Amino acid sequence: MTLKALIFDVDGTLAETEEAHRAAFNQVFANWGFDWSWSQAQYRELLKTTGGKERIRAWQENLPQGARRLTDDEIARMHKEKTAIYTDILAAGDLDLRPGVAELIDRARADGLKLAVATTTNLPNVEALTRCCWGAEPYDIFDVIAAGDEVAAKKPAPDVFRLALERLGLPAQVCVAFEDSLNGVLSARGAGLPVVVTPSVYTDDQDFSQAQMVVDSLSELSPDDLLALTADQPA
Ligand SMILES: [Mg+2]
Repeated sequence: MTLKALIFDVDGTLAETEEAHRAAFNQVFANWGFDWSWSQAQYRELLKTTGGKERIRAWQENLPQGARRLTDDEIARMHKEKTAIYTDILAAGDLDLRPGVAELIDRARADGLKLAVATTTNLPNVEALTRCCWGAEPYDIFDVIAAGDEVAAKKPAPDVFRLALERLGLPAQVCVAFEDSLNGVLSARGAGLPVVVTPSVYTDDQDFSQAQMVVDSLSELSPDDLLALTADQPA
């Protein structure tokens, strides 16, 4: 099978965004008068729950009895504010793409491959990232964007990768997915995609045995490696 498209996760895969997310959560908690502050160790655990609103809900479940809790409505509002804080952090900041990402995307475009995003995060976060890292809008870089809020079930469910494939108009066998987490690998594999994993600061202890390839950074990935991944897939 010929390689036709690359589909990227965003957080942790394109850039190490999770520290900016964690800072934004802690800021919004302070703004709302909570003394919650997520440490790196706590955030590593919390990241096992995908989706920001879901993560706040998971956190609340472990609060002591009688502690102040948010309603689903309040969580939705808080999360909206958190997204605004996150985009401000990126707009002001110097978040870099992970090594090899820019080169891989440039090469893929020059080779006529389609480029897609399949992310649990929302479109404003993708915009913040492409503006920060490329100085460009998401659709200047990617042909297709499938975001978490557009599907019923987030990663590890395969929905968001299936949506990306549907919008690409391509079967999974001619695409390769790029991920940094176990939930992402399960999601991509569930959609029938071969997966390359670049473990990130918060996921380097996870089990990637279901991935086709694990590399420290995408700069280690050769064009031949990519072609071999699609050639391995059943036609
Ligand atoms: Mg990720």
